[in-house]
Amino acid sequence: MSTDVIVVGAGWAGLAAAVDLARSGLGVRVLESSSIPGGRARSFMDRVTGETLDNGQHLMLGCYRETLDLVRTLGTHHLLTASREPIPLFLDGGERASIRSVKLPGPLHMLPSLADMRHLSVRDRLRMGRAAAVVALAGLGDARRLDSMSASDWLEGPAGQSARAMKMFWDPLVTAMLNEEPRRASATMLVVVLREGLLAGHEPSRPLLPTVGLGDLVARPAVRAIQDHGGDVLMRTRVRGIRTRGGQATAVCTSRGDMEADAFVLAVPSWRIAGILDGAGVSHAVLEADRLEPSPIVTVFLRYRRPILDEPVAGLLGGRFHWLFDRNDIEPGPPRGTWSYSAVASAATGLVDDTSRDIADAAAGEIATRIPAARRSLVVGARVVKDRRATFRPAPGTAALRPGPDASGLGNLFLAGDWTDTGLPATLEGAVISGRRCADLVRGRPSVRDRPSKCKTARIPHHPG
Ligand SMILES: Cc1cc2nc3c(=O)[nH]c(=O)nc-3n(C[C@H](O)[C@H](O)[C@H](O)COP(=O)(O)OP(=O)(O)OC[C@H]3O[C@@H](n4cnc5c(N)ncnc54)[C@H](O)[C@@H]3O)c2cc1C
Repeated sequence: MSTDVIVVGAGWAGLAAAVDLARSGLGVRVLESSSIPGGRARSFMDRVTGETLDNGQHLMLGCYRETLDLVRTLGTHHLLTASREPIPLFLDGGERASIRSVKLPGPLHMLPSLADMRHLSVRDRLRMGRAAAVVALAGLGDARRLDSMSASDWLEGPAGQSARAMKMFWDPLVTAMLNEEPRRASATMLVVVLREGLLAGHEPSRPLLPTVGLGDLVARPAVRAIQDHGGDVLMRTRVRGIRTRGGQATAVCTSRGDMEADAFVLAVPSWRIAGILDGAGVSHAVLEADRLEPSPIVTVFLRYRRPILDEPVAGLLGGRFHWLFDRNDIEPGPPRGTWSYSAVASAATGLVDDTSRDIADAAAGEIATRIPAARRSLVVGARVVKDRRATFRPAPGTAALRPGPDASGLGNLFLAGDWTDTGLPATLEGAVISGRRCADLVRGRPSVRDRPSKCKTARIPHHPG
């Protein structure tokens, strides 16, 4: 195979770029340092139970337009289901609210949710409705000014949200969506995810859940697609640097020796970029990405003796864990006679250094105080997955640290990854957009994905039941 393009990194950004390039007839080689493709969205087998676990539970939304297009291309579209509604929100002490949307244009589709938030006063709910209308119907305004403001400054200031609405709705919602607490997250990022996702309409706002591990949804089918189109994927191959001549990259230096190509896509995490590009004469703006700080996510996979949840996903309010997912429909399922769930704690800085035992106890405890059925069931197994660098912190001012795909200053080396300037927080959708945008640049085509566009309706089968 002659190598037209080398893609470094087999996360969703690199795989999206490589699939796109291989399908357009270019000779593609993917270099990945680890032994499993998929990056932060990879699957692995739990040796004790035989269950397929993901590097943290992931949730997609109907507005993940490019991701849905990628899974359609890979033929795994049928392995995603739209979550059944209403999505319950469990409060400490057994109180319950819900998120429920109807087929109305956004943001009117969310009116039933406001009606269901009985843990908040009518006045609080009216203010939430007003804030939602402003976000959904007005433009971003002065985006730069908004990016210098924290999400909580914006919510408590111009958006007029009360202390109780912050504690019992916005804090958990923003933390779960941005992987950062509202007081430390950029207001721009919050407004973007509300506009593009939650408030964009019924279908765009629907949570989508894989019925298989993320490895079977994207990583392995993508590797197969690249190989079927004549490309190759070299695992356990670490890129250490690049060679350049006359303002162009000529080769990557790897643990297997130097490899040449006509074009390069660097799809590694932000904290690896400087190590690879330092000394290559690239623009300083790219090396600034090193200043993006990481934010951890902790996922606890719990097995119970009896079922504890009737819905595929539920929100947990007022504690350290934010979501609870039913994993019993994910193939291959949990061992016979047990019921499998995962609890997710975003922005888990205060949790990630605890022992796995303490974290699992904390998750089981928070679930038990909120969900009555969990009090009647026994936890028979737990596995804790910590990712200390799950995403970058979308802090105020971080937009300036996120380079564009062609910011390297080398004419044939492009940057992909959830941390590049997609306009979105670190998400699967941002990763896929960034990879496909690089594929467009390699082919010399005008990129249609420079900005996330308004969501289109996703046709996804609904969760059974
Ligand atoms: C626990 C957790 C939960 C999450 N939940 C969600 C969610 O619910 N919804 C959502 O949309 N997003 C979620 N995310 C974020 C999402 O997983 C990431 O945004 C996305 O996977 C990033 O993809 P990427 O390709 O940009 O980077 P990565 O996945 O980090 O891929 C980079 C790849 O480059 C490889 N690499 C690094 N250095 C080198 C080198 N020198 N040479 C060769 N290869 C190298 C790495 O091994 C890796 O495979 C979550 C993330 C985590 C960790």
